[in-house]
Amino acid sequence: MTPPFRSYVLVSRKQIVRNYRSVCAVVGQGTEVAAVVKADAYGHGALEVARVLLDEGVRWLAVSSVDEGVSLRTAGMREARILVMGGFLPYEGEAVAEFDLTPAVHSLDQIRLMDRLARDTGKPLRYHLKIDSGMGRLGTRAPASEILGTLAETRHARLEGLMTHFASAADYTTDQTDVQLAYFHRIAGDLRAGGVTAAYLHTSSTNAIGYGRREAWHNLVRAGHALYGYVSPARGPAPAQLLDVKPALTWKARLLAVKDIPEGALVGYGGTFRAPRPMRIGILGAGYADGIFHRLSNRGKVIAAGKLTSILGTISMDLTTIDLNHTPALAPGDEVTLLGREGEASLDAQQIARVAGTISYNILCSISARVRRVYV
Ligand SMILES: *Cc1c(COP(=O)(O)O)cnc(C)c1O
Repeated sequence: MTPPFRSYVLVSRKQIVRNYRSVCAVVGQGTEVAAVVKADAYGHGALEVARVLLDEGVRWLAVSSVDEGVSLRTAGMREARILVMGGFLPYEGEAVAEFDLTPAVHSLDQIRLMDRLARDTGKPLRYHLKIDSGMGRLGTRAPASEILGTLAETRHARLEGLMTHFASAADYTTDQTDVQLAYFHRIAGDLRAGGVTAAYLHTSSTNAIGYGRREAWHNLVRAGHALYGYVSPARGPAPAQLLDVKPALTWKARLLAVKDIPEGALVGYGGTFRAPRPMRIGILGAGYADGIFHRLSNRGKVIAAGKLTSILGTISMDLTTIDLNHTPALAPGDEVTLLGREGEASLDAQQIARVAGTISYNILCSISARVRRVYV
């Protein structure tokens, strides 16, 4: 019994739970795990993933934007804490207060904005202050003395967390992570000396967890990629990877046609593939509009009848042609695996990413909304 969709994704709830438990086991009792479900849970479906993990006892969900946080609340998730890692813009302030979202605040101005919001709404708003410890993206670069000055003037909203984000946690050819962590610890120490202690310190996402950077775990970590079964490959002399996680998502597409073409026949836009001999080809009902990278034209693989086989010619918006020379077994309506496993053959987001010239995160997030999500 397979779902009646041309292209669909199967998400294993059980595997997401196993992955979450592996993260919990690695970081241990004193460290909470925030489940990062931004970008529709990296293509896995934020509502379903959040529900599954809330049942597992997750207390913190992390998203990118106020919009994403509001979607979780309006879907009925009332109890969980929701960290909005991308912060908020002035026009989103009301929603932050109304939907009880906890923004990562990344400038002293935003602390003041948050404070006015708490005063005007009469709500005990909490925020986490993001420190730019050297990634050069979001986060304040203000020294501790200035942060303390701003905190002293803002008595309505409460600083609940101090956080930073690492640029190179899986890279052991550079000391960037150590430098970032030392900077973060210095700021946290100076704030403490100034009488400000945040309830949560958090700096680690998947790679800092997987490669055992324990001094960066504090009492909260933010795990995304690991929940979906991935840890980035390390560079340089990395310690053993600790997480026991596996991909939770399988992506299928159906054949619309199977046919034999003669030697010399051209395939697809631009005629970029020419059959070197008579061959059997299959036309899949999925293309770049579904999230198959155009860069995989004439380079990528799929799994058909249990074997890896090649993508032929240029990937179209809604169609992709594949080599079926190895099998007479498949007919229109049958399924092919774009990402996942059939017997011995497997293809994960990291393998696809390498061929497409990108990263696994990008592959997962690009599976488009047209592709139905089915939960098993
Ligand atoms: C996306 C994100 C994470 C999660 O990262 P993973 O590598 O997927 O675990 C953590 N923190 C911040 C600030 C993020 O933007």
